[in-house]
Amino acid sequence: HSSDATSTHLHLAPVLAIGNNGVMSKQQFQTEVSQLLQLIVHSLYSHPEIFLRELISNSSDALDKLRHLSLTDDEYKALVGNGIDSPRIDLELDEANKTLTVSDTGIGMNEEDLVSHLGTIARSGTKNFLTQLSGDARKDSNLIGQFGVGFYSAFMVADKVEVFSRKAGDDKTFKWTSDGETGFDIEEVSGANARKTAGTTILIHFNDEGAQYANGWRLQEIVRKYSNHIAFPIFLTYDKA
Ligand code: ADP
Ligand code: MG
Repeated sequence: HSSDATSTHLHLAPVLAIGNNGVMSKQQFQTEVSQLLQLIVHSLYSHPEIFLRELISNSSDALDKLRHLSLTDDEYKALVGNGIDSPRIDLELDEANKTLTVSDTGIGMNEEDLVSHLGTIARSGTKNFLTQLSGDARKDSNLIGQFGVGFYSAFMVADKVEVFSRKAGDDKTFKWTSDGETGFDIEEVSGANARKTAGTTILIHFNDEGAQYANGWRLQEIVRKYSNHIAFPIFLTYDKA
């Protein structure tokens, strides 16, 4: 297993190759994802703060999945303390650089998972939601509130999202990157960017709308408001700008 600091680029059947020497593999979002992203960005949704509820809820789901496996499956039991870390969710805010990471020590995703889970919409609820859209921003933003748009809600507050993930039982970390416009890139990362244990780190680069959340007190308030019921410990670290 190589530990040099350069990254290996993957070419997972790219729909659209960019660059002239195949440096990145650019893949397009499924049509429904693009529709949803358009809607999120243009709906003027009045509660963008729910992005944090959605990300914490995904972390909690990932921790539940891994906990279940490590209680029921001998292979996973053997990884506890050695590739699998104790369950927790960490929020790290950099007020000055306007970035936030949401990390968990959950099940994690490999490259195929990143493509299918973050590039397509499998949830019937979301598909159903999309068929109900009217094109009227006010009505549609109410619908977003009711359904919750999951991971993609991050693009209400971010102009770039990076997802670093290592699946339990694997030793590779993959990075998914998107500006939420047309598609995403996936590459393997190593060195300082590689995760030491299984789980996922979501790095949010706040946009102008999201800059208001680059504030430790504000984040605490949002976590208490929406994520009080989460069964795993949530830690918040921040340096005041
Ligand atoms: P939902 O949570 O309703 O399935 P989301 O849009 O919130 O929909 O997330 C899509 C999928 O991406 C999840 O079902 C899961 O498979 C994957 N995912 C998102 N965040 C994480 C995470 N932190 N760890 C592992 N998988 C994740
Ligand atoms: Mg979710």
